Amino acid sequence: MKSLEIKVVRKILEAGMRIAETNRRILKEKGITSFNFIGAPGAGKTSLLLKLIENLKDRYRIGVIEGDLATTRDAEKIYQTGVPVVQINTEGGCHLDANLVGKALENLPLEDIDILFIENVGNLVCPTAFDLGEDYKVGILSVPEGDDKPEKYPVIVKVSKAIVLNKIDMLPYFRFDRERFYFPIKKLSPSMPIFEVSCETGEGISKVVEWIISKVT
Ligand code: MG
Ligand code: ZN
Repeated sequence: MKSLEIKVVRKILEAGMRIAETNRRILKEKGITSFNFIGAPGAGKTSLLLKLIENLKDRYRIGVIEGDLATTRDAEKIYQTGVPVVQINTEGGCHLDANLVGKALENLPLEDIDILFIENVGNLVCPTAFDLGEDYKVGILSVPEGDDKPEKYPVIVKVSKAIVLNKIDMLPYFRFDRERFYFPIKKLSPSMPIFEVSCETGEGISKVVEWIISKVT
């Protein structure tokens, strides 16, 4: 890359970092704890969100930012639960960035929110590279994706503060070696909380709820 191009790229990254810091400051001022859910399409990010909302909404005021390439399908499901939700359509963009999230924050009743959930665009790779100003990134993986995902996508393990393994009700139908799944995570991050859940049966959800509550300030 030519040096001018490098300068331009650096400027864009620096601008993004500044906006992320602004988001972080706003969230802190309002006393909001925020979680950025990252996972491949179909891993169950929205399903998990719905379960968490169901379990938390009587104790905490929740807000949601829904990132999607297109459609408002997931945002509508969240809307049905009665919590405030803002949809970001990235129109082909494969991740959320701090600027988009900053705009979404302007459209949420921040005074009335304790916990903010951000559902990133379904993508296991580039959302990991963007600081949105959130407190915690959470990696969502699922049994049908295979036991090799932590090994093949170590960056999701590196940036996440917890890993959720969804669809454990599917374990009987897939060749899925737990050891193979756990080993690279434990190697990179020995104290990483790993939650095995099924959004279908509700198994394991209470442990994620407890973890979320332990992070709420
Ligand atoms: Mg979704
Ligand atoms: Zn992207």
